[in-house]
Amino acid sequence: MSAEADGRYLTREDAAEAERVVVKAGTNSLTDDDSKLDRLKLDKLVNDIMDLVERGKEVILVSSGAIGAGTGRAPTANSSVEDLQAAATVGQSDLMRNYDESFERYGKDVAQILVTHHDLEDSRRFNNFRNTVETLLDWGVVPVVNENDAVAIEEIQVGDNDIISSSIAVGVDADLLVTLTDVDGVYTDNPKENPDAELIDEVREDEIDEIWDYVGEDTPDFGGITTKVEGAERVNEEGIPAIIAGSQVQNVLEKVAEGENVGTFFAPEVDE
Ligand code: GLU
Repeated sequence: MSAEADGRYLTREDAAEAERVVVKAGTNSLTDDDSKLDRLKLDKLVNDIMDLVERGKEVILVSSGAIGAGTGRAPTANSSVEDLQAAATVGQSDLMRNYDESFERYGKDVAQILVTHHDLEDSRRFNNFRNTVETLLDWGVVPVVNENDAVAIEEIQVGDNDIISSSIAVGVDADLLVTLTDVDGVYTDNPKENPDAELIDEVREDEIDEIWDYVGEDTPDFGGITTKVEGAERVNEEGIPAIIAGSQVQNVLEKVAEGENVGTFFAPEVDE
C-alpha cells in the first residue's frame, strides 16, 4: 500500500489504498432465519467483493456459513458434533455452488480452500497454502476459504473464522482485513440489547484495552464481537489495519475503498 510508514497510525485513507484485502463474512451475512442460504445476501456480498476486484485489488474471501446452510438443508441434523460436521459438508458444497453461480455473473472463477488451524500453524503447510493463494490471485480467481469442519472437530465453533482470517491476513501479507457481520461495527455496549450503545468509529492500537472494557474479554458470545476484535488486534500487531463493518450496509466495501467512515476502523501503529 502507499502508506509511508513514518511512526504513525494508519488511517482509513491508507486502508482504502490496500492492494490485497482479506474479507471475512459470517454465517448471519449469508443465511436467513431458517438457516437456509440466502441468495440475495450472498449476491450482495459478491457484488461488494467485485467492487474491490474491479478497482484492481486482490481479494481473499473467508466465508463461514457451511454449518448454517447445512443444518438448513439437513433438517434431521441435531447439535451433536458428528451431525454438525456432516451438516457442514452438505452446507459447504451448497455454499460453493452459490458462490460459483454468483461470481459467474461477473465472469469470475472461484476456488474453494478448506483449512484447519494446524495447516496455518505448520510452516510447510502454510507455505503450500500461500503458494496456492498466490497462483489463484495471479490467475484472477477469487479464493474462498473456510474451516475444514469435516476433519477438525475442535473448530466446530462459530467465531473461529475470525481468528483464521487474521492468521491468513498476516500470512499472505494482506494490507487490510475487513470483517463483515450483522452489526455495523463495535459499539460501546451490545447494540442488540442497549439502544443507547454508540458505534465506535476508530480504535488506535494503543486504545485497544479500552475496547476490551466495552466488549468484555470474557463474554461467552463466541462468534460475536469478541473474536472479531481479537482478529483486528492480531493483525494490528503486524501493522495491518482492520475494519469491522455491517455486511448489510449498502456498498460497504466500496465505502471502505473510498476511505469513508464505515464500521469501526482499527488503526495500527507503523514504524519508520
Ligand atoms: N466453519 C464454520 C462454518 O462455515 C464457521 C465457523 C465460524 O463461523 O467461525 O459454518
